[in-house]
Amino acid sequence: MRDFTTISIDGGAGTGKSTLSNLLSERNNYLYVETGSHYRALTCILLREGVTPENATSFVNENSVAIDSEIIKKRSYIVINGSNFISENLRSHSVNENVSYFAAIPALRNSLFNYQRSQVEVARRENFKGVILEGRDIGTKILPDADLKVFLHADLKTRIKRRSTDGESDTIIKRDQIDSSRKNAPLACAEEAITIDTAKFSEQEVYQIVMESINSIL
Ligand code: C5P
Repeated sequence: MRDFTTISIDGGAGTGKSTLSNLLSERNNYLYVETGSHYRALTCILLREGVTPENATSFVNENSVAIDSEIIKKRSYIVINGSNFISENLRSHSVNENVSYFAAIPALRNSLFNYQRSQVEVARRENFKGVILEGRDIGTKILPDADLKVFLHADLKTRIKRRSTDGESDTIIKRDQIDSSRKNAPLACAEEAITIDTAKFSEQEVYQIVMESINSIL
């Protein structure tokens, strides 16, 4: 019997990753780490400093950042140089517009790699039953040995509708294009991942499908 489970959840924007991760985390006492928020937090800092994707590599190399975690309930929030981003609007129009350009930069991704991997140990230390890392490259790059890998997808119409229901102005087609075509850790489905078309199922059904897979490996 496994006493701790590592789960990767990847997929494009609006595919239902956060909804699924929240349900799994709440009902099973797994620590939930939303890695998109890490890229969004760094994007906020870079935009504030007037950094552009063209000069981001030298900025990241010249400015060392201390990265830590703050656990609130079952979620892990990134803390950069002592500040968390909980009250920051990480889903603002300018962050949505810029985040994928910054996230394609190797130096920026490297600055988060060890931190994201370390979340497994954070979850163990805090006595969670497991950890869910959600993003684009979790199953392929951050946790290649995850116990269970999930990849979500859905047709474009469904995904755009979900975003507008959330009241977000988001350029999901453009973001997915940049995220899928970058050289470094692109949005991709890991070979061993279970894939789910979330347009075909309710939130509960997606949760049940994943729970069956979790129970089969426990
Ligand atoms: O998940 P979310 O939509 O908040 O992610 C925002 C952006 O962060 C993505 O469009 C992508 O550019 C970047 N990202 C990434 N790798 C991850 C998670 C997010 O490149 N693991």
